[in-house]
Amino acid sequence: NTPLHELDPDVAAAVDAELHRQQSTLEMIASENFAPVAVMEAQGSVLTNKYAEGYPGRRYYGGCEHVDVVEQIAIDRIKALFGAEHANVQPHSGAQANAAAMFALLKPGDTIMGLNLAHGGHLTHGMKINFSGKLYNVVAYHVDDATGQVDMAEVERLAKESKPKLIVAGWSAYPRQLDFAAFRRIADEVGAYLMVDMAHFAGLVAAGLHPNPVPHAHVVTTTTHKTLGGPRGGVILSTAELAKKINSAVFPGQQGGPLEHVIAAKAVSFKVAASEDFKERQQRTLDGARILAERLVQADVTEHGVSVLSGGTDVHLVLVDLRNSELDGQQAEDRLHEVGITVNRNAIPNDPRPPMVTSGLRIGTPALATRGFQEADFREVADIIAEALKPSYDVTALRARVTALAEKHPLYPGL
Ligand code: PLP
Repeated sequence: NTPLHELDPDVAAAVDAELHRQQSTLEMIASENFAPVAVMEAQGSVLTNKYAEGYPGRRYYGGCEHVDVVEQIAIDRIKALFGAEHANVQPHSGAQANAAAMFALLKPGDTIMGLNLAHGGHLTHGMKINFSGKLYNVVAYHVDDATGQVDMAEVERLAKESKPKLIVAGWSAYPRQLDFAAFRRIADEVGAYLMVDMAHFAGLVAAGLHPNPVPHAHVVTTTTHKTLGGPRGGVILSTAELAKKINSAVFPGQQGGPLEHVIAAKAVSFKVAASEDFKERQQRTLDGARILAERLVQADVTEHGVSVLSGGTDVHLVLVDLRNSELDGQQAEDRLHEVGITVNRNAIPNDPRPPMVTSGLRIGTPALATRGFQEADFREVADIIAEALKPSYDVTALRARVTALAEKHPLYPGL
């Protein structure tokens, strides 16, 4: 029972340093969040020791009576949260959830449609060297140049031309809501399955602040660690009709033993996600993103070539367009890092700069909302970001303002 600090001081020191980094800086990577201590406690539990291939009540190992309880709680809670007929809570990650869902519905060589990576799609929606691009014939759709929003006329035209077996609606970097009903109508017209990947916006859906894709889609996949605020992991929701196919695609199709400690942590986070507090937090997440977008379209910022894709946001993130700025994505990311704000650079549609540099920033508010940020705090963050993106900026002063915000909202006190 030797504690980590004694058994392995090297790893312990890096973990401590990471805790300090999270506490002392402002986390604005749109796909990140802070899991509650109870979630981390479940994830760090003895459940990590248990093999449980199979599903509750039908395992290939003995001694599964307690992990069966945990997994069934997770299944029941997430079905209730999103109104789904079936849930598989075993995917180890969002990418594995997508791989399993596609494995369930497609054969290699089948055609799929997904949002182009540089236009906001995810690697697993058909990127060339991802499994999805290698196994399937990919027809990508795009956002419209003028509006910055998904071009549904193009989706319909491409679907009719290419007759895909599956259409993926979902995104990693997109500031607006998708029209799930329109996607379903198009899928039905061409005989395709509709799969919605709600990894980014699942928390907003759970809170009732974003349309729910579940009634429209054959399959809905998600991660559990983004807006949903749980442990790192994935989930697949589907109609009852597809339940058997989905389950067998996850195990034994794609995975071996489920991570029951992570499933326990997922169950805890689904309980949290059904609470009033969670709803209030998601509302602050949306308010924060709107405040940030509004600040970054003011003249003192736009005169330096900075703008906001689609002109604003309906979700938890803002996409900053730096195509006309002297700063590229890498430089802007570094500059914010210098003042203590963590974001990621992001390729934007028709990006003239290479993917490792980019002309965009993706900035999200979920983690700060979890930390307790209110509207006034988000106004201050937005102003710090606006100042930092100008040609002349005062690092020391901005860093001090970041520190004041971090101290005002302590993270994991007592850890
Ligand atoms: N789907 C979407 C839309 C995502 O944004 C991501 C991650 O960024 C994933 C899937 C993959 O999730 P993971 O990193 O857990 O594999």
